Amino acid sequence: MTEILALPTRPYAADSPLAYLLDLAAEAGVPSEEEQRDDAETTAAHHVYSAYPHSLAQVVEAMDWRGYPALRPDGYKDFEPSAVAWLDGGLWLHHTLHITEADGAQDVLTLIVPCTCGRGYADIRLDTEDDLLEILADLRPTHGRSPHTDTPLDCGSIHPAPQQDGRR
Ligand SMILES: [Zn+2]
Repeated sequence: MTEILALPTRPYAADSPLAYLLDLAAEAGVPSEEEQRDDAETTAAHHVYSAYPHSLAQVVEAMDWRGYPALRPDGYKDFEPSAVAWLDGGLWLHHTLHITEADGAQDVLTLIVPCTCGRGYADIRLDTEDDLLEILADLRPTHGRSPHTDTPLDCGSIHPAPQQDGRR
């Protein structure tokens, strides 16, 4: 803390009550990356248990989720913390929250499916458990691959693979 004491512009001592309180507020306002990861995993697991009790919740355990902290690229839209779960066969689940002032936090669950062309992935936004089962029925004949279409190109084949956070 000596370097803080050396700063002439700060009108309070580093060991003062005010310094303590300001540090406390800074820590409270910004969750650590570890807290963001934990929260992302907990939120994803909770969503799956409550919205997909007969399908995903049967096979994806809370500990299967791997959380990632928020991305705050300069000048770009913020990405909330997210979590991904591996389903095998090249398929992933990706969960994040879409937060707006009007609607609050909404769960966004996406199934990331490799394309039959082998060069990309299709992102399928999931809304309900029935929705998921319909999608899985469609994917079954191709063993969990999304049939490639050029028009419109939906597999993002210019990107070789999802990044670590599950986005493309
Ligand atoms: Zn493709």
